[in-house]
Amino acid sequence: MRGRDGIPREQAMREWAGCLREGRLDPKREAAIDLRVESDPDGTSKFLIRHPDGLETESVVLPLTGKGGKPRTTLCVSSQIGCAMGCTFCETAQMGLMRNLTVEEIVLQWHVATHRLGHAIRNIVFMGMGEPLDNVEAVIGSIEILIDRRGPSMSSSRIAVSTVGRIDGIRRLSRFVGESEARKLRLAISVNAPDDETRNRIMPLNRAMDMTALHECLSDWCERHAGPLLLEYVLIPGVNDSDHAATTLAGWIDRLPARVNVIPYNPRRESPWPAPTEADVDRFVRTLRDAGLDVSRRVTQGRALMAACGQLGNEHIRKRRRID
Ligand code: SF4
Repeated sequence: MRGRDGIPREQAMREWAGCLREGRLDPKREAAIDLRVESDPDGTSKFLIRHPDGLETESVVLPLTGKGGKPRTTLCVSSQIGCAMGCTFCETAQMGLMRNLTVEEIVLQWHVATHRLGHAIRNIVFMGMGEPLDNVEAVIGSIEILIDRRGPSMSSSRIAVSTVGRIDGIRRLSRFVGESEARKLRLAISVNAPDDETRNRIMPLNRAMDMTALHECLSDWCERHAGPLLLEYVLIPGVNDSDHAATTLAGWIDRLPARVNVIPYNPRRESPWPAPTEADVDRFVRTLRDAGLDVSRRVTQGRALMAACGQLGNEHIRKRRRID
């Protein structure tokens, strides 16, 4: 984090961490928070923070239940307003990239969820709007504050960064994890396809950083850092949901120590594809398990709010020009 107004970085970190712990911000900054909250009957809530430049950040609070019925509320934070990656199944992609969020704007989402809305946040996932590794320095700066013992003091094992596979960003994050207190930070990869041909069609980044290069990069991550990878797979009917896709995916994963999280596609606005049926999701999960993989299935929450995975995005500003 760069110090504001010439304040040295360490001092700025200390100030921010202390303010966040006590739930007090600079009164001007607190007064500038323009907040809107929308709630889904399933317990999910989405909150929007309007920034002084008129652009909005969207964040989601997911009230999940852990082992033994204990609540483990998860906060899904945004790292950018919009996104430049252009994944065809994603609502945020329709906006293009408006701009990167600053370190302050990222941790502000934790502040609002905790101190304004009263949630006891147990986990943070960088799975909101934006590609976190397209804004990697601000994401790293925000993680440093979130795990700071003088501040929110979260365990890095409860923070996950999800990327479409920006190899340069994964390497940068790997160096940060190796050199910092964030040793247990979790990495999640949106794989979403069994082969380059399919992935090129739905995730344009793959044309520059293909699945072979991604696999090499992930093997390197796993050699350096403990803990399994999370591989996310958005299951889209007619695109990546065949039995052949499941077995090809299992072959690509090979010996990576990974858990696959199958996410039933949440249709974006004007989506060309429907959501998959329960039977199709069950069949795909079963085929992966039969291939020897550790597989979980994400429960769909917040679909009515357009707050489910891949649905964040503000239709009122999506037509605006890219700023960065
Ligand atoms: S899936 Fe993630 S990386 Fe892809 S366009 Fe959406 S927000 Fe960006």
